Amino acid sequence: MTILSEQLDYDAFFRTLRAAPSRLLMLDYDGTLAPFTPHRDRATPFPGLRPLLQKLASEKRCRTVIVSGRAVADLLPLLQLNPLPEIWGSHGWERMHADGTYTPPPLDENTRRILAEEWNWLKALFPGDRIEQKPASVALHWRGLEPETEVTLRGLASKRWSNLLLHAPVEMHAFDGGIELRTLGRSKADAVHTLLSEFPTPPAAAYLGDDQTDEDAFAALDGRGLRVLVRPELRPTRADLHLTPPDELIRFLNQWISHLS
Ligand SMILES: [Mg+2]
Repeated sequence: MTILSEQLDYDAFFRTLRAAPSRLLMLDYDGTLAPFTPHRDRATPFPGLRPLLQKLASEKRCRTVIVSGRAVADLLPLLQLNPLPEIWGSHGWERMHADGTYTPPPLDENTRRILAEEWNWLKALFPGDRIEQKPASVALHWRGLEPETEVTLRGLASKRWSNLLLHAPVEMHAFDGGIELRTLGRSKADAVHTLLSEFPTPPAAAYLGDDQTDEDAFAALDGRGLRVLVRPELRPTRADLHLTPPDELIRFLNQWISHLS
């Protein structure tokens, strides 16, 4: 565990958590709760983590929310939790409440058409296990491939999509293991802002994430909660704390649970 922010008093944060009238724990999925695997559909939580997630999802004294770039539907078979926590998918575009109520992405006709065209392009060029169609984006994955292949794939997608950016409401986003064409207008920050706004008084809050898309969430949480970077190596970040998964993450979540009384 490495404390990155001079302002962070780690023990004081947990004392605040214990005394707080409400708590909000926001968790990214890939890279944070689950290790990267060459097969994205097999990225199940780190060993030993699922019982903790189940405990948190069942816990009335803390609102636990998964905030992922994946589609909500993608996460359900990987999480295998009952009850489920609230889930925000597709970088803030979709939301499934803990009671199962689902809000799909509000996309306009033009955006739908563009995403459909780019999906057809991906399907024509790349194998099915390398491409992904999400409710508000399409993605190309090169996780586990040779570096030269990665360069080729990155080049093809970047070239096509950089042109598209000039006249369409989309953005290109690199993530660990691939590149995505996303609908502009939402990010993980929207999930953080919305969730925080739903508490009558500010909750004791934390957000745990690993990649660049989580930096949006870290920015949104600035001054209002603990920001935790979870990844094997430290990198430039807005986070207040760095944890190496899975051991330090498991320790942190156990500590969180033990402070809910
Ligand atoms: Mg991640």
